[in-house]
Amino acid sequence: MALKALIGRVPEPRKAALARVRDPASGEVIDEALALWFPGPHSETGEDVAELQLHGGQAVIAGLFAALGKIGSCRPAEAGEFTRRAFENGKLDLTRVEGLADLIAAETQAQRRQAFRQLKGLIGDRAEEWRRELIEALASIEARIDFADEADVPENLVELALFAAQQLRSKIAACLANSGHGERLREGLVVAIAGPPNAGKSTLLNRLARREAAIVSPIPGTTRDIIEVHLDLGGYPLTLLDTAGIRESGDPVEQEGVSRARARAAAADLVLWVTDASGAGAAAEEVGQRPTGAEVWPLRNKIDVATEGIPRIESSSAKEGINRSFAISAQSGAGVDSLVEALSDFTRTYFGATESAIVTRARHRQAFETTIAALDRALGHRASGEEELIAEDMRSAATTLGRLTGRVDVEDILDVIFRDFCIGK
Ligand code: GDP
Repeated sequence: MALKALIGRVPEPRKAALARVRDPASGEVIDEALALWFPGPHSETGEDVAELQLHGGQAVIAGLFAALGKIGSCRPAEAGEFTRRAFENGKLDLTRVEGLADLIAAETQAQRRQAFRQLKGLIGDRAEEWRRELIEALASIEARIDFADEADVPENLVELALFAAQQLRSKIAACLANSGHGERLREGLVVAIAGPPNAGKSTLLNRLARREAAIVSPIPGTTRDIIEVHLDLGGYPLTLLDTAGIRESGDPVEQEGVSRARARAAAADLVLWVTDASGAGAAAEEVGQRPTGAEVWPLRNKIDVATEGIPRIESSSAKEGINRSFAISAQSGAGVDSLVEALSDFTRTYFGATESAIVTRARHRQAFETTIAALDRALGHRASGEEELIAEDMRSAATTLGRLTGRVDVEDILDVIFRDFCIGK
């Protein structure tokens, strides 16, 4: 085995051992390392796992890879392969896999907490428990169907099963009720910066991005124009989108990014409507141009060169959330602090009550919605008392819950879920 070939022995399970790592062909020492041995099934993946902690320099890693290449059975892992094996060996259900992916991607503390809860089975365990309850209820209906002629099978089994279905429906509906918050915490509250051309939208975004708290992550394919900035406001994520940065492109990959950015801006939670207070720009503050649906905060920019009267921000009205409007200079930074403070308030208020959201992804929401639909169909057969139909719909509800955790037939969604993992995870 590889470990023996490299360090000449297999350390005691789960105990770190100091070892010289050698090239198996030449015997040359590559590095001194800590070696760990996790025999399956008590390992991350459920299989035998060896871990070497080396000094990490490029030549050390290259030397180790070359040495591993000389051992016939070794090859580099694919992105997400360790996690995929853990899933296939039943160590992690799919919702935990998603939680792990989210934990790795978490940028703020609130995102980290939510991801960690998912990794520990917040939704997975619940879905599995509900699936079991459904299967039990289903079993009693099937008993009724199979032994209908026998005297000792109670009549009210079906009624009991439907009662269980009804209870479950309420529990799932309660989880769905705050699903929007869980998904938003995962992805960030979206704030779109919109307004007429040259009002200073990009300048404002760049100013906000330069703040200490900002995590700048350009959407792939649009690296020259930063159009998306992630802010960490007191642990809560907020994504700022510059609609001016969303430009047409001939490249199909970029087009995909552009259309995604457009869709996100259209569904923003808040719009910062930037206008040019200096009077130089087009007087294009037409209400018709503003995105509808979301709350809109008017932002009068370029107050450093403004010729007209500048409305001052009344901090009391800002606190009450009425008519929040701001006068700023994106270039000099004047007024930007109060804007950031107001954004922090907005974010805190939005996420305040959502720390324990169970549904954090569209996939979870869709699974729960499909389960509810199937349960409703089952409950709809109550009047006619058609046991076979009730059983069929309850079975379909159980299957949907099984797909959520990956217990049943999920080949089609695996690639999507594992796609986002990196090598070594
Ligand atoms: P966008 O088209 O809305 O993204 O506008 P830009 O951010 O590209 O800004 C348009 C022009 O206005 C640029 O020349 C900026 O330097 C300038 N500008 C932006 N903000 C301010 C400001 O607060 N004060 C002044 N004087 N100029 C600004």
